[in-house]
Amino acid sequence: MATKYLLGEDQIPRYWYNVMADLPTPPEPVIHPGTLKPVGPDDLAPLFPMALIEQEMSPEREIPIPEEVREALAKWRPAPLFRAHGLEKAIGTRSHIYYKYEGVSPAGSHKPNTAVAQAYYNAKAGVKRLATETGAGQWGSSLAYAGGLFGLEVTVYMVKISYQQKPYRRSMMQTWGAEVLASPTNRTNAGRAILEKDPDSRGSLGIAISEAVEDAASREDTKYALGSVLNHVCTHQTVIGLEAIEQMKLAGEYPDVVIGAHGGGSNFAGIAFPFLRDKINGKEVRLLAAEPASCPTLTKGVYAFDYGDTAGLTPIVKMHTLGHDFMPPGIHAGGLRYHGASPLVSKLVHEGLVEAVAYAQRPCFEAAITFARTEGIIPAPESSHAIKAAVEEAKKADAEGKSRVILFNLSGHGHFDLAAYDAYLAGDLEDYEYPREAVEQSMAKLPKVEL
Ligand SMILES: *Cc1c(COP(=O)(O)O)cnc(C)c1O
Repeated sequence: MATKYLLGEDQIPRYWYNVMADLPTPPEPVIHPGTLKPVGPDDLAPLFPMALIEQEMSPEREIPIPEEVREALAKWRPAPLFRAHGLEKAIGTRSHIYYKYEGVSPAGSHKPNTAVAQAYYNAKAGVKRLATETGAGQWGSSLAYAGGLFGLEVTVYMVKISYQQKPYRRSMMQTWGAEVLASPTNRTNAGRAILEKDPDSRGSLGIAISEAVEDAASREDTKYALGSVLNHVCTHQTVIGLEAIEQMKLAGEYPDVVIGAHGGGSNFAGIAFPFLRDKINGKEVRLLAAEPASCPTLTKGVYAFDYGDTAGLTPIVKMHTLGHDFMPPGIHAGGLRYHGASPLVSKLVHEGLVEAVAYAQRPCFEAAITFARTEGIIPAPESSHAIKAAVEEAKKADAEGKSRVILFNLSGHGHFDLAAYDAYLAGDLEDYEYPREAVEQSMAKLPKVEL
């Protein structure tokens, strides 16, 4: 039996799959943070080039991938699909476990899949500079790399706690030519307002987004780029699932369940949406998003209109949210620390087409270590949530006396997250469940959107 399933470069997908064409009910409108009324394309123009705004709202099922983007993707795509023989043996399951490995990109995760597309459309629109935020550094490094490819300057507002804890992600961004700032900074009104209240602020993704959006909105030559959550980002990531469908054919199997770790939703969307098209067309397949119990957006968050950032500068979208004032607990070692979620994934969870589950970090690291010792690859802490979910699905099948085909997305490697592994191995990590009361308190601060 084969260990990996590979495709040729000519099999890099020629289009992205846009799930908006197949939703059972229309997508919810995007709301202007000032007027609290639905936005039009022009309202988003200070932040994004028109080609991406069109994709954000597109009803087209298949969006052609420009040849320049396919050429950039060819540096690491098609990504391999592995059969997890070692993991299956270690946990003693009769289920078949497959994983799509996105750690082969230059930045080591799935994020360059959208970074190269976003850099391409911005460069084509004459944009000179991109501003963005990064938490653990995965997105900042992906955009730093992609921006460089297409001749763009990149400024990254990096959450201060990560800036201090993950110096090598910063080194990567600087190596690829980006400017990296520890957020909150003194450069923006949003940053200064936070520092005035709390000079020792550790920062958060919500704050860093406010800074990057303000930067982009206040400069003519600059646009903003987001690494997850938005529809066009999810669409760009569907190359993962489109390839996986072909690779599962090579393996002669079709998954019973497709799993992705969930932060803002992009890698999950990437692997799951192409299978969702099959599901909507009558195939039996379950789609499962796995998130951390410390940031349980899909499982404990409320499906409501909320801001994408802390300062309330971004458009308001309907999504599962823990509240835009969410401050992630400092003990959490992985990424996946955003208060919101992709509106598309949120809607699909709300409509029962996608399932969600939350796991504490220690059992996830335990699964990651079993995986590393049997499959070799050291997973990103984010990806370990998908591994944990896959192992649990296999165990459930065994308990029912069944054999299932399980496919998960290994969204990245953990070579820059070894401090988190150190903390786990030293017994320093604690499990923390974000309390429902904290979600309820934040709900009082939701914007009052009336449609
Ligand atoms: C950013 C990241 C995630 C989480 O983001 P999503 O948008 O939910 O995919 C997961 N895994 C890795 C390796 C990441 O870098």
